This record gives sequence, C-alpha cells and structure tokens, in this order.
Amino acid sequence: MTARDTANPSKPLVLVVEDEAALATMLRYNLEKEGYRVAEAGDGEEALTLLAERKPDLVLLDWMLPSLSGIEICRQIRRKPATRELPIIMLTARGEEGDKIRGLNTGADDYLTKPFSLPELMARVRALLRRAQPVSQKGQIGWGDITMDLAAHRVTRGGKAIHLGPTEFRLLQFFIQHPGTVFSREELLDAVWGPDIYVEPRTVDVHIRRLRKALNCDTEADIIRTVRAAGYALDSEDAA
Ligand code: CA
Repeated sequence: MTARDTANPSKPLVLVVEDEAALATMLRYNLEKEGYRVAEAGDGEEALTLLAERKPDLVLLDWMLPSLSGIEICRQIRRKPATRELPIIMLTARGEEGDKIRGLNTGADDYLTKPFSLPELMARVRALLRRAQPVSQKGQIGWGDITMDLAAHRVTRGGKAIHLGPTEFRLLQFFIQHPGTVFSREELLDAVWGPDIYVEPRTVDVHIRRLRKALNCDTEADIIRTVRAAGYALDSEDAA
C-alpha cells in the first residue's frame, strides 16, 4: 500500500450501512486497510443522506436496520437514476435461500450471510468494483439492436437507453462477446463474478432474470435462451 492521503478522491468510497457499532468499526478498519475510503451510516435515513451527499462507489448494506430496512434502502437506491447502477452487497444474519433470492431480486448485486469471513468480503468488494468499472475496456460492442459502450458504461436497445446494474452489464458484455455459445451457470460465475468468488449457481438465474427484464422492457422477443440442464446463451442473430 502506498501512503496515500485517506481523503484521496481516487480511492473508491465504500458506504457501510450497519447499526451494530462494533461491526461497523471493524468493517471500516479493514476496508481502510485495503485502501478504500469509508463512510458510515447507522440507519436508513443517514444512509440515504450520505448516498446523495457522498456518492459512494459501493454500498455494504445490512438487512436488519432500525426504521428503514436494508431491502427498502436497496429499493430506493435502484429507483433513483443517480444510484441505479450503484453496486450493493447485502449483509444479513438470515441464511434462508428465500431471503437470499429476495435480497437479490430487490436489486442487490451480492449477498453475504453473517458471520462472514473478512477475506471473502474483501474479495467480493474487489470483484464487484471491478465489475462496476470496466476501465480497461474501450469501444463499442453490439449484437442485433443492442449497443454497449464499454467506456461510457452505456447500453441501448433500438436506440433507447437500457439501465443495467454492474453485474447485468458484465453478463451482457460476456454474452455479446460469445454469441450463440451455451454457458453453464458455473462458467458464467467464473467469467462474470470471477473464479475466486463463491456464489451459488442460482444467483446466476436471478441476474439473468434482471437482465432479461431490462432488455425486454418493450414487446421485443427474448434474446437470452435458457438451455435446459445446461445454462444460457445469447441467441443466434438469425433467430432474433
Ligand atoms: Ca443490523
């Protein structure tokens, strides 16, 4: 680590929304050690204020919070154009599969159950920030009526803007770079989430659903083919 000023705006800013003071302090300490800037909110109201004022690069969001729940904050983040694409990792004591899927459906990009290991949390923070900032990628790629501007992180379909979260963006980019190829959930996890990240294969289904929903916002035909027992593929262009 270089001895950069903690106020250096080039360091990613992580907003920690957590009402357990000891956990918040531990998260701040370890995130700062990894070179991130940290803003802390102890409840939902404070979180929404900091989101508007500080414009964080990633949010670590506790599910169980006083007054406004993590799920509700997540919804509000996704509803506002300014924060629609903000990466969110939900932290929760709940381990139920149903809750996990519910959290992801609300718009979280990743999900960790307490107690989690710090190295795993840091790996996910790094991976998600990497997904959110494809800085090394330049230029435009396209498929059918879909255009992706990789540098500007913009997607259009039929000339109309499509808003995708960081994970859906990387998924679509990967599909467009490999059209017509069928990928298993595990292969998509490796390619999009990264091989060092353990995510349940069902998580892929949730993000595919979100990607489909975003892309087929009109009456257009679905372009992502589900291959039973195999995985997913961007459909061949002739079939589109
Ligand atoms: Ca809590």
